[in-house]
Amino acid sequence: MHTVENLAAFLERFAPRRLAEDWDNVGLLVGDRRRQVARVMTCLTVTPTSAAEAMERRVDLIVTHHPLPFRPVKQLTADTTVGRLLLDLIAARIAVYSPHTAFDSAREGINQRLATGLGLREIAPLLPDEEGLGAGRWGRIDPGTTLGQLAERLKQFLALDRLQMVGDPQRPAQVAAVACGAAGTLLDAAHRAGCQAMVVGETSFHTCLEAEALGVGLLLPGHFASERFAVECLADVLAEQFPDLETWASRAEADPLRWV
Ligand SMILES: [Zn+2]
Repeated sequence: MHTVENLAAFLERFAPRRLAEDWDNVGLLVGDRRRQVARVMTCLTVTPTSAAEAMERRVDLIVTHHPLPFRPVKQLTADTTVGRLLLDLIAARIAVYSPHTAFDSAREGINQRLATGLGLREIAPLLPDEEGLGAGRWGRIDPGTTLGQLAERLKQFLALDRLQMVGDPQRPAQVAAVACGAAGTLLDAAHRAGCQAMVVGETSFHTCLEAEALGVGLLLPGHFASERFAVECLADVLAEQFPDLETWASRAEADPLRWV
């Protein structure tokens, strides 16, 4: 039988805390380390939908990419969505672990998987730390690759019908960066690294204008799509590491943004 502590210790090794951003809140956020775990659900975010799935299926541990709670909590009441979710999960004795930006930057983390999924070579972090890991990734693609072709690869890898693009699809994209989620702040680092293109989950209108001004083509698949696939990979990693557990990625959670 495994405990919350066993799972947390593995996740700390898989996505070490030192890789998390300073502002982040990662690790075991809710729960008792001594409790036994038989069922684990991964998800991108704890929402009323994913929490209901976890409670219905009697999950012992949720591994959520986005932290809950994220900000310091001064009252724990049902007056807010976060408070209600926390009260429900605690009542159901469900622990919550979040690797968040440590998972973004980990050796087998989201950005590394995005970079390999796109076919980048000589992959390196955009903001390297002393130990050779760090935020974002960049690398090289086959000579002659255009921004439009890179967009097609991304759509194929993430199983998307469409995405947003900044820049002419014919422009070269042989050096490209990836940064999942709302990572527009890494645009300057990508530009400094000489990237002609960058994949960002989502970013602001003004960052799109800045990318255009810098001559960096942007591909924006959406925050959900840029990270959800990795939550499914994480469920596979946990299933492989802990074969006697029942492990799955939330089947109920969905992108709240719809194309209409
Ligand atoms: Zn995110």
